[in-house]
Amino acid sequence: MSGAGRPKKTRYQIPRGMHDLLPEDLKYFQKIFDTCDRIASYYRFGRIETPILEQAELFTKGVGQSTDIIEKQMYALKTEGGDLLALRPEYTASVARAFIEKGMEVLSKPVKLWYFGPCFRHEKPQAGRYREFWQFGFEALGERNPVIDAQIIRLFLNILEELKLKNLMVQINSIGDPKCRAHYKKVLTRFLKSSQAGLCSDCKKRLKQNPLRTLDCKNEKCQAIISQGPQVLDYLCKECRAHFKEVLEFLDALKIPYRLNPYLVRGLDYYTKTVFEISCGNPSSELNQPLLSLVGGGRYDGLVKLLGGKDTPACGAAAGIERIADLMKEKEIKLKEEDLPKVFLVQLGNLARSKALILFEEFRKAKIPVYEAFSKDSLRAQLARADRFGVKYVLILGQKEVLEKKVILRDMKNGNQRTFRMGEIVEAVKTELKNNIK
Ligand code: AMP
Repeated sequence: MSGAGRPKKTRYQIPRGMHDLLPEDLKYFQKIFDTCDRIASYYRFGRIETPILEQAELFTKGVGQSTDIIEKQMYALKTEGGDLLALRPEYTASVARAFIEKGMEVLSKPVKLWYFGPCFRHEKPQAGRYREFWQFGFEALGERNPVIDAQIIRLFLNILEELKLKNLMVQINSIGDPKCRAHYKKVLTRFLKSSQAGLCSDCKKRLKQNPLRTLDCKNEKCQAIISQGPQVLDYLCKECRAHFKEVLEFLDALKIPYRLNPYLVRGLDYYTKTVFEISCGNPSSELNQPLLSLVGGGRYDGLVKLLGGKDTPACGAAAGIERIADLMKEKEIKLKEEDLPKVFLVQLGNLARSKALILFEEFRKAKIPVYEAFSKDSLRAQLARADRFGVKYVLILGQKEVLEKKVILRDMKNGNQRTFRMGEIVEAVKTELKNNIK
């Protein structure tokens, strides 16, 4: 993310792949948060925040031991007490854990939860890819009906559209349930073995551990081989096929354009049936061309049971907040100007400084924003600053005014000055702002 001013070489440097979030970044984060919050209350999702540290096993079991996220990217640590903990690489497993542990299984379904916070993955840092990054996500637990899958996609599009992002593209696929997927895996493995020599070294490994992951390999040679291979949609069982068909029908009803992408599998083991991604890019680009993925999600009907809960179908997705904020900056999407103060409070001398401190608090209680420079002594320095801020009024509190319990109100445009009693100045400024500033 961006920085302020010229970077300085300091003794302590930020760890690789991490980034500071500065006020100019957090303005965008706040806008994204407010938009999520508004949408969440419309769709009746309640906010949840889980700890950043969880038992490492929650993720190895939930996300899957042989996925990149767990095998290569998880930050794990052993505590002095011998517990193996991990920084969360994503939220869904934690949400499912909390759902079971906090007794949410008895609530009326679907239980709808959303979150907004940092995640950690030890991957190679590059543009739009950080080792600490923030996600927001929405999860609906306890609902099998495909209407939820479509509604979650609609909800994420609504957030991105409210943030004024354009050229959004939904890619969708179904990877079936464990039964029909097992059959597809066998057929795919047989096919890949026959072309094994042409695969990259990663895919040769994937072939043994997680053959579905070969489908979204970025290597061109692998893509050429895979494009000739069997496609998962042709191997779905009757129920999974009907479910997927209904998801697509609901998307049509909601007028959401989508692309069927038979190579979309997503890197997490818990997905079943629907998987989708929302990316931002040129709508005419090729399917295999890398697009900036903003949102990833899908159905995870087996996760809650796998983690020790009841059989609970569920669906959800998560979005990368830095990527969205970076795009908003790149596209120069304007945020609403905050209400900047129109008044500057000048003080001269120690007595006036302490009175000005009190006055500043009175303006805060009256909800009137005021600039100050309490650490400055000279009138000139303070007026120069007031000038830089472009305020309409300056309040001057000097030695004489303090003794007379008065304050000077100076109109910066015409230089007119009026004197008010200290106890009346807040009201006087309020009236002045109301009458003279549109
Ligand atoms: P995933 O949890 O892998 O499904 O990712 C969901 C979304 O999180 C992606 O579409 C990205 O927007 C974002 N994301 C995932 N990994 C990173 C990362 N390392 N840095 C920044 N954003 C990320």
